[in-house]
Parts: sequence; C-alpha cells; structure tokens
Amino acid sequence: MALFTKDSIERVREAVDMVELVSAKTDLRRAGSRWVGLCPFHDERTPSFSVNPEDKLYYCFGCQKGGDAIGFLQEVEGLDFQEAIETLAERYNVRLEREDEDPEADRKRRERDRLLGLLDRTARFYASYLETSGEAAKARAYLAERGFSEETLREFRVGYSPSAWDRVLTGAQRDGYSPQELLDAGLAQRNQQGSLYDRFRGRIMFPLADLRGRVLGFGARAMAEGRGPKYLNSSESRIYRKGRQLFGIDVARSHATKSGRIVVVEGYTDVLAMHQAGIRETVAIMGTALTEDQVVELAKVAKHVILALDADRAGQEAMLRAARLAKDRDLELGAVEMPEGADPAEVLQKGGPDAMNGLLERARGMIEFQVHRVLADAELDTPAGRDRALESARRLIADVPKSSALRQELVRTVADRLDLPPDLVIAQVPHRSEPARVARSPGQIALGPEEAFLASCLASGEVGMATLEGASADVFSSQLMRKAREHLVTSFHDPLAGLQDGDPELGRLVAGVVAKADTQQPASEASLRLSFLQLEQRRIDRELRRAGEAADRSMQDRLAAARQDVRREMDAVMGQMA
Ligand SMILES: [Zn+2]
Repeated sequence: MALFTKDSIERVREAVDMVELVSAKTDLRRAGSRWVGLCPFHDERTPSFSVNPEDKLYYCFGCQKGGDAIGFLQEVEGLDFQEAIETLAERYNVRLEREDEDPEADRKRRERDRLLGLLDRTARFYASYLETSGEAAKARAYLAERGFSEETLREFRVGYSPSAWDRVLTGAQRDGYSPQELLDAGLAQRNQQGSLYDRFRGRIMFPLADLRGRVLGFGARAMAEGRGPKYLNSSESRIYRKGRQLFGIDVARSHATKSGRIVVVEGYTDVLAMHQAGIRETVAIMGTALTEDQVVELAKVAKHVILALDADRAGQEAMLRAARLAKDRDLELGAVEMPEGADPAEVLQKGGPDAMNGLLERARGMIEFQVHRVLADAELDTPAGRDRALESARRLIADVPKSSALRQELVRTVADRLDLPPDLVIAQVPHRSEPARVARSPGQIALGPEEAFLASCLASGEVGMATLEGASADVFSSQLMRKAREHLVTSFHDPLAGLQDGDPELGRLVAGVVAKADTQQPASEASLRLSFLQLEQRRIDRELRRAGEAADRSMQDRLAAARQDVRREMDAVMGQMA
C-alpha cells in the first residue's frame, strides 16, 4: 500500500488541535503553557498527564507514555499508523497525498470510497426508517420488548429495511449510484429475468462496521416468518468478506483499549444488551467460529480476549484453533462457562450486570476451560467413558508447558474427577517439545552504548539524574544493565559506596561506568535525550527482529511507526543542538 507523503503527514500534524483531541478522552485544564489532566492510559487520582499545545505532544509522568497526535490516537483507539493518519486527516480536513500511487490503485481506491459512501448512506436510511416508518412499528416493539433503549439502537445504527422491492435501489440511483455499484456494495441482487431488486427487505438491519466505523455490510434479522432465512448477511464482495467482521467493534474499540480486554459474544442483540449493561468492550462474531481475520482485529484493540459463547455452538476444535491463533499473536484468550443454553442477553435479563460480570471474572484460560468441559461431559460410570475423557484431557494438557503450576493443577483435577492416581495421568500425557527459547549468552549483551549512556548521565549532575530516572527499564537489553540503572538511580551521588558485595558482576559494571564518567564533561539535556533515543531505537529494532521472526505483521507495523516517531524526535533534538 502506498504510503502518504511526508509532506501531507506533516500537514496533518500541524492541523491537529492537540488539546481538543485529548479532551475527548480526559478532561484537561490549563497550567501555564501546558494542559494537564488524568492520564487516559493508567489509573490515577492526581493528574500526571500533560499536553503541550504548541509542540502538539503529550506526556505522562506516571506511566511514561508520550508522543504526538498520531501516536495518541494509535494508543487510545487501537489504530495502526495509517489508520490514525487517515482518521486525523478526515477530522481536521487535510487532503492526504500518497507517494507514487499508480493511477490504477488510485482508481480502485476512489471506487471503494464511493461504495463506502453508498453503504453509509444506506445505513442512515435504514436507521431513520426504523425510527419513523409505520411499517417498522413491529420491529420497534420487538426491540423495545427486548429492553433496548433508543440511545443504544442509535449508537449501533440499528435500522429497518422496507419490505418494498426497490426502495434502496431507486433512492441510491436517484443519488447517482449505478446498478453495478449497488451490486458491488451487496445491497442489490438480480432475479432470474436479470432485473435488480433490494437484497434486504422487511428486516431489522445491523450495520457491520470496521474499526473506524465505516459500514462494510449488514447483518439482517427477518421480522416476518417464512420470508427467507432468519438471519441474512451481505453477500461476499470486494468490501464485505464473510468471517472478517466483528459486530460492534467500532463502538467497543475505545473501551477495550482502555480496559485491556475485549469480550466476544455470539449475536447482535447480545452485544446491544452487554453495552447497555455497561460492559462496553463487547463484540459479536455472529454465529461463526472465531476466524483468523477476527483474531487479527481483536489483537489490534486488546491483549485479553474473553469468549462468552454458547458452549454447544462453539465446537471444541474451533475453540482450540482460536487458542492457537491467539497464542501466535500474543493474545491471552479465555472463555466463560455460560449457563446451560443461556446467552449473555438472558444472563443480563435474569441476573443483571453483576451476574455477567461475575461470569467474566471467573473466565478460565482456554485449555483449562476445555479440560473442565471434557470432565463435565465425561461418562464417569463406564471404564470406556473414563478412558475417553482421560485421552481427551491428556491431549489438551500436552499443550501446557511442563513444570507449570497450571499443568500440575490440571493433572490433579483430572485425577480427582476420573478417580485415578495423578502419576497415571502424568504418564499418559504425551511429550511435546517445548518451544525453543532463544538463549542469550553473555557475549551477546550489548554493553557498549548502554554503558556509555549510564556514564553520561552520571557525569551530568541533576540533569543526568532526571534522565536516568525517566529512562524506561526496557530500553536496556539485559537484566544486568537494568540493575545497574536502578542502582545508579538510588545511589546516584555515591554509586560505589552503595554497592553490595553479593553481586560482583554488578560491581564490575558500575565501577567501569563510574571510571568512565570521571573522565567526561557534563552533557547537556538535549545530548542526554539523544543518547536515550538511540537506546530506544535499538530496543525497537530488537523487538522488530522478534516480531519479524514471529511474522507478526500488526506488531511490525506498530513498531515501525514507533521507530519513525523516535527518528523524528532525534531529528528535532539534533535541530535544538545545532
Ligand atoms: Zn499515564
């Protein structure tokens, strides 16, 4: 994909009103030339989050997060670099130019934009039709009976499609859309005579949007019996792909980014009910098994995913596949034991938010969840039934790292339940080779630049002390260097005196740093910042290598953007020094 020109990215940065942007997420008040407020990224009672409206940067003294508007949006909305730029450009009216875009790609993008416009327009039409038309009265009554407020329905842009054969067709054509565009958007289809008619008629419409809220298609629920399938989705098109969408992701996204978790339920109305009950980080997979594409989307907004799916519907294989996909993406995947035959909407109706929150709190890790299910379903009264359960359980346990507490606990649970001695259960667990860990030999530890950074800080008095305190531990590539930093922060004014005898390795390192610092002139704040940024860049490069080895594309994108930010700040700092 063509990248945006440097120039247009710069124009986006200049156009942003940083105070306005941040104010949408946390209340800010003026403090001199800055604005301060409670940090949107970590829980705090006294404000340590500050915005510099001139340079358009933010920084939190509590959790050390900081950056520009693009980074802010990425962090708070879970967007990638490209998405954040596009969102800001749209909001602040900046035209983005792409680098060397070929005319063909440009044409395709324009076509796609038109289809997205058509889908958006149609979603608005359906929504107002639900609110106002006489024909939709039954649908309104149905939704009201399920307890959904108008506010909730509006937030998710729930609508109703007229039962006539051509309302969308004629309306869109009057607005200049071609029949082919209506087909491409999945809104129309052909009958046997070849004429077009509306795909969705007499149905409650649920727009399926992407992370940024752009409508890509619809899920539709029939209101009348016997008129086609109960649920109908947009047909596959260049815009809408089955198994990729998550209903509600655009609304849930910011809540999920903040809470760090996202809850996955089965259906549209479960999502509405969950949000209305205040469990706002909820999306639906709409009856399919969790797909790889969906896992990719989930990973963009939260690291902890909880499945609250009907136990019978989500087959064991599908769940385990999801668990493997999640592992590849560094996602923590858990599952909730739903009461027999109940969906989240019913749990909420009967027990309120407390009941559902209680279930979510008791969510189990995927393997643990599966083992418990195997045991619950086991036929315990026959030896053959117990053998089958043991066989299934041991296959699951084989995926848990050896010598972990979880493995031991699972073995105990299985042994108890099947009434077997634990060593028999262990003996049955097949050996699976542990994932190879990259060993780090001491020779690989990069001492040079990190050691030099510590020495510069030490040689530079209060400024050095502040820089050292502000340096996040993860820029150092080894435990030893992190320990050295910590030691220097606590014993900055007399580092040698504070050394303990117990750690000769640390002693040698600190002595070397002190000796080097003694030969140096104090460094300026800018030059210390620059050294720190160099370490930060090295850290990102290390992580990029790891992400490359793991073929984690979204992580690579994020890191590449972070690296750009660092490079840019380095340029700025060097500008100050010149
Ligand atoms: Zn913070």
